[in-house]
Amino acid sequence: MAVDLNTVQLRLEKFEQIARALKKPPLYIEDAPSGFADWLNEELDRAVYLFERLPNRRPEFTVHFGFLEDLTINAIAGCPGDGWVGLNVGVIRFFDQIFKRFLSDPRVLPHIGDVSGEAIAPSPVDQSTFQFLANTHLFATAPVDEIRGGTASWMSRMFRAYLWLHEIGHVVHGHCTLLDQLRRGGLDKETGLPIGITKLSMQTLEMDADAFAASQLAQIRTVEAPFLDQFQSHLMSKRAHELTLVIFALCVGFRIWDEYPHDIGAFQSTHHSAPLRLAAMLAVIAQTMELEGLPDTGRIVATGLDLAENAFGTMIGRGLDRSAIDAALQEDGWGHQQELLKEWSRIRPMLEAHVRAGSLAPSQY
Ligand SMILES: [Zn+2]
Repeated sequence: MAVDLNTVQLRLEKFEQIARALKKPPLYIEDAPSGFADWLNEELDRAVYLFERLPNRRPEFTVHFGFLEDLTINAIAGCPGDGWVGLNVGVIRFFDQIFKRFLSDPRVLPHIGDVSGEAIAPSPVDQSTFQFLANTHLFATAPVDEIRGGTASWMSRMFRAYLWLHEIGHVVHGHCTLLDQLRRGGLDKETGLPIGITKLSMQTLEMDADAFAASQLAQIRTVEAPFLDQFQSHLMSKRAHELTLVIFALCVGFRIWDEYPHDIGAFQSTHHSAPLRLAAMLAVIAQTMELEGLPDTGRIVATGLDLAENAFGTMIGRGLDRSAIDAALQEDGWGHQQELLKEWSRIRPMLEAHVRAGSLAPSQY
């Protein structure tokens, strides 16, 4: 595919300009070592692709993508005129390390590749150490087996796709524009949020961005990868196998953030808890698979989730503990979800005028 270098250059310059204006340090790709610069450019092309394939996209609306020189695990979106989405370099390194570490352990997804050469001593890593180590070079390890290495790279790519899409969701569903508009009307002294917007409203916007991202993520098709052929055709189709691995990557990525597993019902934060977010996204992925006409969608979700829960339990040495995700999938989680959906009915009409792609989910209340 021919890439128009002028367009690429312009897009980046615009991103850098906006980042500087917002006092966020852009990562200047032209200054990066050449191998890494090529990698970053490929990743940017993927982000643009994710945006350009969106349904109902207003052709006049642009989003500028780029990276921020920031080692924290975060991504950011804004709408100063055009849309703007930045991914911290910390995110890239973190998820790259996480998936490499998981696939270096012969007990994780043993049906993928050849585990006989994987030399990682299976000693557990507790959850907080996991987060700390992933941010240091001490942790650097990669699977020996080529297919397992490829699987780890693909999984971190899929998780980054989720992150890009989540931020794109904030932009194209009008969240950023609405918040900017309301901010001009003044801020709440206690929360610092625009007047009329509560923590619950913010969680609702997060739910919408997650649902948007999950539905798009489930529609990505990997053209060719050796690990996709490693499935038992009498148990599952190749496409179903691909989706179990997408679900695995999403669940593992979120599991690392599951520091407060029992804080299911909290409304005091701008983001709801990781298991709740995951439970809602799994429901969206199941719906998306049904629209595609796939059979046994419940089983695909359950398989991906079980593989991730087992892998996570193995890695942190505590064994299988589904209590957090089960609470999110059952009554506690259901109650919280209903509060978010009620708030959605209030927020949705305010977003309608600002939608630039996709479509807003209907109100249920
Ligand atoms: Zn968000």
